Amino acid sequence: MEKTRVLVTGAGGFIGHHLVTFLREKGYWVRGADIKYPEYRTSDADEFEILDLRRWDNCLQATRGIDEVYGLAADMGGMGFISSHHSQILHNNSLINTHTLEAARVNGVKRYFYTSSACVYPEFKQTETNVVPLKEEDAYPAMPQDAYGWEKLVMERLCTHYREDYGIQTRIVRFHNIFGDLGTWDGGREKAPAAMCRKIAVAKLTGNHEIEMWGDGEQTRSFCYIDDCLEGIYRLMRSDHIHPLNLGSDRMVTINELAEIVAGIAGIKVTIKHIPGPQGVRGRNSDNTRLREVLKWEPQLTLDEGLKRTYTWIEKQVAQKLGTELN
Ligand code: NAD
Repeated sequence: MEKTRVLVTGAGGFIGHHLVTFLREKGYWVRGADIKYPEYRTSDADEFEILDLRRWDNCLQATRGIDEVYGLAADMGGMGFISSHHSQILHNNSLINTHTLEAARVNGVKRYFYTSSACVYPEFKQTETNVVPLKEEDAYPAMPQDAYGWEKLVMERLCTHYREDYGIQTRIVRFHNIFGDLGTWDGGREKAPAAMCRKIAVAKLTGNHEIEMWGDGEQTRSFCYIDDCLEGIYRLMRSDHIHPLNLGSDRMVTINELAEIVAGIAGIKVTIKHIPGPQGVRGRNSDNTRLREVLKWEPQLTLDEGLKRTYTWIEKQVAQKLGTELN
């Protein structure tokens, strides 16, 4: 039997890179597309094309002969990046997503997976650290904090309309802080768990145990390990659930607690220096009621175990970099 042919966009990035490997192991033929190759390990894709997916002609090329698309390409990063690049993010991601979806339709793609975000939820529901977990319907009335979230919300709607108007089977996920190895850990686009692992690895390896943290560290989030994210993506894509679905952990921690767990893994005590910086919303957690109903499953790995695996990888990267700098 012929293998199903899938396209993973953003295959040079964190989740896309892992997803390529996961889908190959499931027996799919996989084409990866990205503006860059993966930074830390060679892609397992059957075919990898370097393409700027803001461009229509490149989107047509990427989706040729493809049965299913997983759309993960995005100009994105952690809070530091998202809160300071509104025009760039809204412009680039709108082009990437409108062109990829339309090219998929033109090329007869049957199923399309769109990666939205918890950033679509309104700021006014996330003003307390002890926040009520967010249900899918909380996205409306809409008031996302940043342009990044507005773009995700509009593209959710575009996916829904394409399904209604053209019959392409769109599936929409809202990720809540995915983390793991092989993700960006320095350079300005890294997210909180990777940044924390890097800072604590530097503290351990240099002996200077003071780390900086944006804000008072009492802001809350939940974090989901990459292996659970991949399983959730796969289950949602194969399901008949046509509405946006949360995918994340529902264990909420403060950023101070996150630092404490990582320092424990590293085996050191750190002093935290709280400095001004972008923090995003005050509190956020995922309500996983629908996720459990729809996917008959929920994320499995504990935060501590996920952080242990991530820290181990990041400490190696930091050690290598410090070694290079010292030589
Ligand atoms: P990432 O930044 O590691 O990967 C995104 C990839 O898209 C990068 O490799 C980047 O080069 C590529 N890209 C950017 N512009 C492009 C262009 N013009 N043409 C082709 N490729 C381009 O991010 P990630 O964490 O792997 O996120 C994957 C998807 O999940 C994104 O859509 C992101 O918005 C969404 N998401 C992620 C999280 C998370 O916690 N990681 C949370 C919510 C939503």
